[in-house]
Amino acid sequence: NTPLHELDPDVAAALDAELNRQQSTLEMIASENFAPVAVMEAQGSVLTNKYAEGYPGRRYYGGCEHVDVAEQIAIDRVKELFGAEYANVQPHSGASANQAALFALAQPGDTILGLDLAHGGHLTHGMRLNFSGKQFDVVAYHVDDAGLVDMAEVERLAKEHRPKVIIAGWSAYPRQLDFAEFRRIADEVEAYLWVDMAHFAGLVAAGLHPNPVEYADVVTSTTHKTLGGPRGGIILAKKAFAKKLNSSVFPGFQGGPLEHVIAAKAVSFKVAATEEFKERQQRTVEGARILAERLTAADAREAGVNVLSGGTDVHLILVDLRESELDGQQAEDRLHEVGITVNRNAVPNDPRPPMVTSGLRIGTPALATRGFTAEDFTEVADVIAETLKPVFGAAALKARVTALAEKHPLYPGLGK
Ligand code: PLP
Repeated sequence: NTPLHELDPDVAAALDAELNRQQSTLEMIASENFAPVAVMEAQGSVLTNKYAEGYPGRRYYGGCEHVDVAEQIAIDRVKELFGAEYANVQPHSGASANQAALFALAQPGDTILGLDLAHGGHLTHGMRLNFSGKQFDVVAYHVDDAGLVDMAEVERLAKEHRPKVIIAGWSAYPRQLDFAEFRRIADEVEAYLWVDMAHFAGLVAAGLHPNPVEYADVVTSTTHKTLGGPRGGIILAKKAFAKKLNSSVFPGFQGGPLEHVIAAKAVSFKVAATEEFKERQQRTVEGARILAERLTAADAREAGVNVLSGGTDVHLILVDLRESELDGQQAEDRLHEVGITVNRNAVPNDPRPPMVTSGLRIGTPALATRGFTAEDFTEVADVIAETLKPVFGAAALKARVTALAEKHPLYPGLGK
């Protein structure tokens, strides 16, 4: 029972430093969040010791009576949260959930239609080097000049290529998708509709975003982005797909499920059903809207800064730096210098190379979890706007960031 700091001071030091980084800087990577202490407690529990191949009540190992309880709670809660007929809570990650879902709906060599990675799609929606791009015949749709998904193109490509699966979902897109229109097109060409709600699942749970479960055959998600749980994946679907999806996850792609993570997922689904969670998601969306307004103001435009699609309906904005002196890498580095963590992101038809880019993706979920209000987000937005001007005062801006971090302590009982 030797504690970590005694047994392995080297790893403990890295963990301490990471906690300090999270506490002292502003986390604005759109796909990140802070899991509640109770979620981390479940994730760091004795359930990590247990093998439980199979599903609750039908395991290939003995001694599963307690993990069965935790997994069944996770299943029941997530079905209730999203109004789903079926749920699988075993995927180790979002990518694992997507792999299992795609292979349940289609065979290698079949055609799939998804949003181009360079226009905001995810690797698992057909990128060349991903399993989805290597094993399926990929057709990609795009955003139009206004930065909105081109539904006319989706329909045209669907009719021309008759895909087996149409994928609606994104990693970098600031607007809501028209699920009803995707459903209509899928029905017209007899394709399955798969929605990947990894990014916006928290907004759906809070009732602030249309629920894809009402439209799609299969819905996948991560549990660690807006949903605010442990790192992992889930699959929701109509009952008719239950058998195929279960066997695609196990034994198709995975062995023993991570029951400690599944217990943590269960805790996070309980949290996601609360009023406090809904209020947090409201601050998340409001914070993104405040950022979009500030970064389209006259002085930001003068500095060559703009916001794709002119605003946002979700938890993130996409900053367009095509007219700025700064490229995506330089802007990311500058924000890092003042204590704000974001990631650079290609804009559609980006003139700069993918490792540099002409954009930033900035999200508000983690700060909303820390308790940031509209007033705090107004201050954050101003710090970002000032940092992206040709001349910026790093020390003064960093002091403003530190004041915000101290105003909203993260994990107050943890660390020194
Ligand atoms: N799907 C979407 C839309 C995502 O944005 C991501 C992650 O960024 C994933 C799936 C993959 O999740 P993971 O990183 O857990 O594999």
